[in-house]
Amino acid sequence: MKKNVQLDEYIKAGKIAAEVREIVRVKDWIGKSVYDICEEVEGEIKKRGAKCAFPVNASINEIAAHYTAEPNDPITIKDTDMVKIDLGAQINGYIADTAVTVCYDAQFDGLVQAAEEALGDAMSMIKAGVKASDIGRTIETTIKQRGYKPIANLSGHSLDQYTIHAGKSIPNIWSIGGFSLSENSAYACEPFVTTEQGGGFVRNGQIKNIFAMNSRKKTKNPEADRLLDFIWEKFNMLPFALRWITKEWDEKQAKELLDVLIKKKAIQAYPVLIEVNEQRVAQAEHTFIPLEDGVTVTTKAP
Ligand code: MN
Ligand code: MN
Repeated sequence: MKKNVQLDEYIKAGKIAAEVREIVRVKDWIGKSVYDICEEVEGEIKKRGAKCAFPVNASINEIAAHYTAEPNDPITIKDTDMVKIDLGAQINGYIADTAVTVCYDAQFDGLVQAAEEALGDAMSMIKAGVKASDIGRTIETTIKQRGYKPIANLSGHSLDQYTIHAGKSIPNIWSIGGFSLSENSAYACEPFVTTEQGGGFVRNGQIKNIFAMNSRKKTKNPEADRLLDFIWEKFNMLPFALRWITKEWDEKQAKELLDVLIKKKAIQAYPVLIEVNEQRVAQAEHTFIPLEDGVTVTTKAP
């Protein structure tokens, strides 16, 4: 990390994200639409003085990740659902990425506890020089000891300014090779847990409602180019949702323009990720910065 200001910004973003996550954790979301959840949580981030690093994800049951609300999305939380709410705050592009699982079916509480415990065990072993593969082993061991399965093809990641997935992965299982954590770099760790009946993997679903810019090359469609400029100015390379552009373009036109930009590969669309055996998935996530002799968990609970 070049300057202390970056550390300050990571810490400010982390404090805001943690405060909001703890509000999310204790709130009763039963009967709320995912549209209301995403908009409310994003509002809590903004009113604390950060920008959203990505659209709030509200991924229900066997959907592990990458579902955000469509404009006026009517899907509503039921009194048996398990919902992963994954949120990101950013200040000048320095990101805090954190998640919590709310669970309204007591028989699945153990999944949530296993994700939290695996994350806690991972955080307590972090310092500069620790191997990512050893973190993966710890996460896997904690989850399996409770009789559950980690999701093997989802992982944590390095973070950089305006970049959520900055190239390095922190696995949720033991794996050969990998890298060692650097002092003063930012990373996210995010164990995902499924049941014993789960396959322990996710597959891509049909729905794609999170997008991000790939390239700023012109498309020869002036209105699509205007949307691309808008996206760059508002979100840089960070992810966004259709909800975030329908104040400037009506929904139908915004969808058509997004399709143009996706075909031209100026924008990419991320599919939802679904557990292969359609079993429930729980997640917990922190952002952290390794130190010479320990760790700063930027999204530590207040
Ligand atoms: Mn996240
Ligand atoms: Mn993450």
